[in-house]
Amino acid sequence: MSANLATASYIGAIILFILSLGGLSNPETARRGNLFGMLGMGLAVLATVFGPRVTAAGIPWIVAAMVIGGGVGLYASKVVKMTQMPELVALMHSLVGLAACLVGFASYIDTSHPLTGAEKTIHELEIYIGILIGAVTFTGSLIAFGKLNGKIGGKPLLLPARHWLNLAGLLTVIWFGREFVNAPSIQAGMIPLVVMTVIALLFGVHMVMAIGGADMPVVISMLNSYSGWAAAATGFMLSNDLLIVVGALVGSSGAILSYIMCRAMNRNFFSVIAGGFGSGAGKPAAKGDAAQPAGEVAPISALETAELLKEAKSVIIVPGYGMAVAQAQHTVFEITKHLREKGVNIRFGIHPVAGRMPGHMNVLLAEAKVPYDIVMEMDELNDDFPATDVAMVIGANDIVNPSAQDDPGSPIAGMPVLEVWKAKTSIVMKRSMASGYAGVDNPLFYKENNRMLFGDAKKMLDEVLVVLKT
Ligand code: NDP
Repeated sequence: MSANLATASYIGAIILFILSLGGLSNPETARRGNLFGMLGMGLAVLATVFGPRVTAAGIPWIVAAMVIGGGVGLYASKVVKMTQMPELVALMHSLVGLAACLVGFASYIDTSHPLTGAEKTIHELEIYIGILIGAVTFTGSLIAFGKLNGKIGGKPLLLPARHWLNLAGLLTVIWFGREFVNAPSIQAGMIPLVVMTVIALLFGVHMVMAIGGADMPVVISMLNSYSGWAAAATGFMLSNDLLIVVGALVGSSGAILSYIMCRAMNRNFFSVIAGGFGSGAGKPAAKGDAAQPAGEVAPISALETAELLKEAKSVIIVPGYGMAVAQAQHTVFEITKHLREKGVNIRFGIHPVAGRMPGHMNVLLAEAKVPYDIVMEMDELNDDFPATDVAMVIGANDIVNPSAQDDPGSPIAGMPVLEVWKAKTSIVMKRSMASGYAGVDNPLFYKENNRMLFGDAKKMLDEVLVVLKT
């Protein structure tokens, strides 16, 4: 493939990636957006492999790497359950970070294109910054993976003088950066480069360990952004324009997502990153901890739930992580269809941080073919709860917790929540009294107009559907 054809293919791929992002911003066009992304990636890989910079001797290596990588990807797509998607995404971010580090080191010891003067300095800075971002992304994403699958507790690790530690790390990295650029040889430059890499790896661990369970959505979107910047840095190191553009697209869209997540949680981005939010005032913060009993709860049966739904004129369903665990979305759709046919005004209230990844609930509802026009953002229908007969909470907890409004000491204080308790009756569907991801007790369960439907969401909803249909 000639250089011109490779460049034209790269431009085509970039356009496809931009169209893909545009498509993914709306559920109705998301499928098309995905297709554009796949086409763009296919074109990018072909143009790179058959482009002028790959020699015939390199092709078998690339094919071998693609077979191994593709094989792992294919295997993962078969075995990873839908509920494990957030962890998988975190692992993938970590691989982008690792790749940036490896490319950085390889690029530094590669002497096939000797550079001098300003060009050499710029290239070394690209390597230094690329490895820095890559190393933070690598370990940060691994810790996020552990926190998402519950292997690492949600409680933030707050080291004494942690801000000073971070500052000392930053100053050391800057100082070693100077040493690295001024190093007389590759061997001499290796020492500051390795020291910086170790500091960056430790910083990645420290940064994510210091963030409390409730603030994890911001971390997920931030690591998504970092992985983009790591890819862009790799593009600079390899002088690959496509990688620079694609990395910048991922980096900036991840940054916008982080901003949206912060706004959704009423948090200041820098405070989240500095850690300390979500620590709570002596409240339990480990995932799934049993909440301390704080009153009487009123249980309800599937039969009674169905009766309430039959009599309701307006219903709001609030799905949460438990709906994903139970894979109850298809039954939810069946119930929705049935109630709509009976003339009930039924809508879905989606909290921006519901589930374990941005857009988690939208993906599940779209998969179950719930019409998009009844799926609303939290802000669009929070004022409608007082005029709602039944608010049905399916496997959600933190996103409907009134203590976010009432208890300034709560780890989730200030986070906007769906005000389900303002409906005539709220029904919370979950298996036990365990707390949600943020590890906070939920006073909603004890409210007078609240009922608890205990059990697996799918099983309970199946029972509700049977009664509704008879
Ligand atoms: P929560 O984690 O607060 O609550 C989920 C509830 O679902 C649990 O209390 C659990 O209770 C219940 N549940 C689990 N399995 C089932 C089942 N099979 N059937 C019925 N219920 C079930 O989820 P929310 O969606 O309300 O809130 C999301 C939380 O996750 C927030 O704290 C958010 O900050 C955090 N987070 C969000 C991310 C994102 O990007 N969206 C990323 C990382 C964290 P029980 O065990 O009693 O059944």
